[in-house]
Amino acid sequence: MKTVKVKLIPLTKDDKNQLLSLLNDYTSMIKEALDVIVRNDTRSRKKAHKICYQVLRKRYPHLHNKFVQEAYKRALAMYRSYRRLLNKWRKLPEMKRKKISHPSPPKVKENNVIELHIDTYKLEKMHGFLILKVSKSSGVFLKFLILKYNHAIRSLNGANLGNSKILIDKNNVYLLLTIRRNVEVNVHKNKLFIDVNENSVDCLLVDYDKNKATLFSIRHDIRKIRTNYRRIRKSIQMKVKNPYLQKKLLAKYGYRERKRVEDRLKKITTLLAEIGKQYNADLIREKPSDLKLNGKRKSKQLNYRLSTFPYRKFITCLDYKFYERKLNVDKENSRNTSITCPVCGYINKKNRVRDLFICKKCGFTFNIHYVACLNLFSRSNDGIVTIRSGRLFLISRKTAHVVTVNVAPNDAPINNDVLREKPVHISKILKIPKI
Ligand SMILES: [Zn+2]
Repeated sequence: MKTVKVKLIPLTKDDKNQLLSLLNDYTSMIKEALDVIVRNDTRSRKKAHKICYQVLRKRYPHLHNKFVQEAYKRALAMYRSYRRLLNKWRKLPEMKRKKISHPSPPKVKENNVIELHIDTYKLEKMHGFLILKVSKSSGVFLKFLILKYNHAIRSLNGANLGNSKILIDKNNVYLLLTIRRNVEVNVHKNKLFIDVNENSVDCLLVDYDKNKATLFSIRHDIRKIRTNYRRIRKSIQMKVKNPYLQKKLLAKYGYRERKRVEDRLKKITTLLAEIGKQYNADLIREKPSDLKLNGKRKSKQLNYRLSTFPYRKFITCLDYKFYERKLNVDKENSRNTSITCPVCGYINKKNRVRDLFICKKCGFTFNIHYVACLNLFSRSNDGIVTIRSGRLFLISRKTAHVVTVNVAPNDAPINNDVLREKPVHISKILKIPKI
């Protein structure tokens, strides 16, 4: 998604006046909605709609209903951000709270922005000019000439438009046009299933073209980096007494830690996306929503995993890189994937014996890292995992393929030595701070 700013010229004087009156009404609507929302301490969209929509609609019957909707949405967003500030402020220790004043409730002073819902505007070409047509109310359209839109129009091809904004800055009018990138993504037959762990990203690459599947693991040292820097932080806190110096050092090493972890994330995600590209495989990963249950994390172990591995960042980055290469990303339910038997479906915590998975029911024994990937495979409504004469096979329901699994390789099909390095030793670091 990106936003393009272009200058608008109202086609007639009437268009300009209509725009100013719209701005006037729109601002009053936000004020009124904010009043109601603050008075009722409204925090949900549903409730805001209930208490604002009808009232505003009656007071401003001449406006397109989407302006009403956008107005209370803005008011709600203002109130919510105030509530967030307030909560933060309340959590401060009393000492600090005295210094920082109580956040004041939101007020609309000046407003020079009108939110344009996607239903309220259109871009039209007329005699080689690009025209913005805003539907103010039934039968009333405001027309603007869009100036210097060449750079904008290039990104318009094959793109979707999103909710946009009109900005009125003194005598100038601008359009902040939101463009949603709409890369054509085809579904690919081949799939790359991944399971993220604290020391590795474990993968199953199913290649239907060659009737072959490969299990491999991309090892990384993010956890090591994290624990190493945690030690560094602790020793700085213990040994450096000067508070100014301590703060400075903590910031410095905090920055380095972030940089290192980010570097690993980039390398792992690029590697995975490159594998996807090379094998024409879509990505299938777990849903991040499964990681949280009613806002609380499921288990200590998962908690730890999440605290050492920046999971969300990883996923955002990974998805982006797959989309960038025109590959799809699918999400699969990941509940119990590490304790479910991929062959018979039996779920038991005791199936997990240290580094091995041993099914208590059918005896299926396998490297624990790959079990989650195999389960993702069967859950993606793609197939069955089975053993025939001692060998592992994947059977796809969709493509009716039988695929043999190659378990031996422990490394990615592409060289990934770059993902590991020796951790920095603390003794080296503690020599520096004697300034
Ligand atoms: Zn089993």
